[in-house]
Amino acid sequence: MDAPRTPADPAFRADVLAGLSAPIPAVPARWLYDRRGSELFEQITELPEYYPTRTERALLEAHAGDVARITGKGDAVIEFGSGSSTKTPILLRAVEPSAYVPIDISGAFLRDSAAALQEQFPGLPIYPVEGDFTKPIALPQEVAKVGKLGFFPGSTIGNLVARTALDLLRAM
Ligand code: SAH
Repeated sequence: MDAPRTPADPAFRADVLAGLSAPIPAVPARWLYDRRGSELFEQITELPEYYPTRTERALLEAHAGDVARITGKGDAVIEFGSGSSTKTPILLRAVEPSAYVPIDISGAFLRDSAAALQEQFPGLPIYPVEGDFTKPIALPQEVAKVGKLGFFPGSTIGNLVARTALDLLRAM
């Protein structure tokens, strides 16, 4: 028997109707990510065809030290769409941040990833924030007074049309 029908989430419905009516029809990528969606993304990153993860990892390994030289140490690292945070340790080891703030819309997966990272970095304050980074987000009070280093890997920006991506980067 079919599962009982439930009315669609009004925000999802609005995004689907607006997205599929746009000149380039698309549904915002944030709707792909619940826990299962996040797990599937992790599996995709292991496919030979999916080059961004290994390419970004190689770039970070080559250049995280340069980033640290430019930014100095002790900023709070803010990651937009942190997912599993698997590349983040390369940056964290280089910049020795005062805190790490992973932001992700996939709340359960975010909390599990933050807990796993905390085991690798027991002394680092980690403040996961569940939210949509295309909207204004309040950062934790604890990082209000320190410098901030934005980290936006994972080709997530490629899910946005150019105009939206530019607006987002400006807002950040
Ligand atoms: N940064 C990680 C994950 C990239 S996958 C990496 O490099 O491996 C993209 C992540 O962004 C997913 O975890 C997804 O849940 C999150 N995401 C996508 N759109 C988002 C939005 N609008 N707001 C917050 N998180 C978002």
